[in-house]
Amino acid sequence: MAHSKRSLIQTNAFIDGHWVPTDERFSVKNPATSEVITEVADGDSQLAERAIDAAYRALPLWQQKTPAERAAVLRKWHQAILANKQALGELMSSEQGKPVAEAVGEIEYGASFIDWFAGEAERSYGDILPQSQAEQRSWITKQGVGVCTAITPWNFPNAMITRKVAPALAAGCTIVVKPPQQTPLSALALAQLASEVGIPDGVINIVPTTDAKAVGEVLTTHPRVRKFTFTGSTAVGKQLMEQCAGTMKKVSLELGGNAPFIVFKSADIDHAIDQLMIAKFRNAGQTCIAANRVFIDEAIEEDFIQRLEQRLESLKVAAGDVEDADYGPLIDESAVEKVERLVAQAQEQGAKLVRGGKVLTDLGRQFYAPTLLNKVTATMAIAQEEIFGPVIAIQTFADEEEAITNANSTPFGLAGYFCSQDIAQIYRVSEQLDCGMLGINAGAISHAYNAFGGVKESGIGREGSRYGLAEYQETKNITLGGL
Ligand code: ADP
Repeated sequence: MAHSKRSLIQTNAFIDGHWVPTDERFSVKNPATSEVITEVADGDSQLAERAIDAAYRALPLWQQKTPAERAAVLRKWHQAILANKQALGELMSSEQGKPVAEAVGEIEYGASFIDWFAGEAERSYGDILPQSQAEQRSWITKQGVGVCTAITPWNFPNAMITRKVAPALAAGCTIVVKPPQQTPLSALALAQLASEVGIPDGVINIVPTTDAKAVGEVLTTHPRVRKFTFTGSTAVGKQLMEQCAGTMKKVSLELGGNAPFIVFKSADIDHAIDQLMIAKFRNAGQTCIAANRVFIDEAIEEDFIQRLEQRLESLKVAAGDVEDADYGPLIDESAVEKVERLVAQAQEQGAKLVRGGKVLTDLGRQFYAPTLLNKVTATMAIAQEEIFGPVIAIQTFADEEEAITNANSTPFGLAGYFCSQDIAQIYRVSEQLDCGMLGINAGAISHAYNAFGGVKESGIGREGSRYGLAEYQETKNITLGGL
């Protein structure tokens, strides 16, 4: 069915295949203009329980379908999303702020997980084990874990949902999603299309809310839930993992990063800058794999900064619906305040502002200028916290060892990047950087085929790739005796 942006706007919770209103509602705003787009149902803990009950009731029928049957309906969902990618992209841009073209790119990326996991559903194998006794045989099967719950962030309103829901459904699980308060419309639109293509009632349920704590409590403690999956900040992730411990749920956590982006002196500088621009400015810097700490070999510092500054000059900052915008507004006022605080503190402590460093008030309160800071040091807050904004913060290093030590000196380990043309150095450094994902001469590293996830305090588990399905499966060892 062909949709317009308007016909994809749903404003109620989605439970057991029905749109469920609530007494309380909350506003969804356009971050470019602060205008209210619509009011959405505000779910509470009781609604979350109702959603889990629906997911539990839907489980047996969905589990019993063959992988091919599950794959077939997942592929229909994939097709419906692609057929409506422009309308979905426009809707996302209006609630999240990213340029429409980038939002449509996210819709395609998000949909690709559905197609990928439809395929993986059909390629999920067990094992026949070596024979340990003459009269026994043993084998391993993979079974879906059961009812899953998910909490997702606002920076990728579509893809953070599909990359959890698609493997869950492929594995034969049902799911309840709590989308972020800022971007519930993209989540509800996905549910609408899922329903239209025939994903059975109760298999996907969406509970929008402003009370993340109360709904999150139910999603992480309900005894019928066997798996909890989360993308968001490390502090919240730790708390939710603790909540899951009481009922020993399987967990996947994709948390904060503090990605290093190292440029060695052997690098092709223009190519390195191209990759840095991608790794920094996508989504106005509001990604957990954004290059957060940029380390430049001191031998090329001057040249690098000069060329980079020229590149920043050509960036176009504008509302998401302006054609050829490179990036749009930050998500909300507090995001702007955080970036302002980090940049101001860094300058007070000796960092040098090369360019930007201000809100572009002509455009609106939430548009932040492309910003370049040099002479940043490891002890500054800007090098320790996720900036989540369009700010490049440069530190320098004298040699490879110093670069690696500095890059690893954080509790996080999600993405890492480095640029080099020296093959021996590429091997050495790739083995020594502590991160779950590494881009070498590459700033765009996310793909449904790739394993997304972190080490250290950046999380547990992987999304995408063949490893992504296993997160939603249990390994059952079966022994048959008396033969
Ligand atoms: P972000 O900086 O991306 O907003 P958060 O970790 O605060 O990072 O939010 C990610 C998701 O976690 C959002 O859906 C948010 O509503 C939810 N969330 C935040 N705090 C809690 C909490 N205490 N319990 C459950 N969910 C939470």
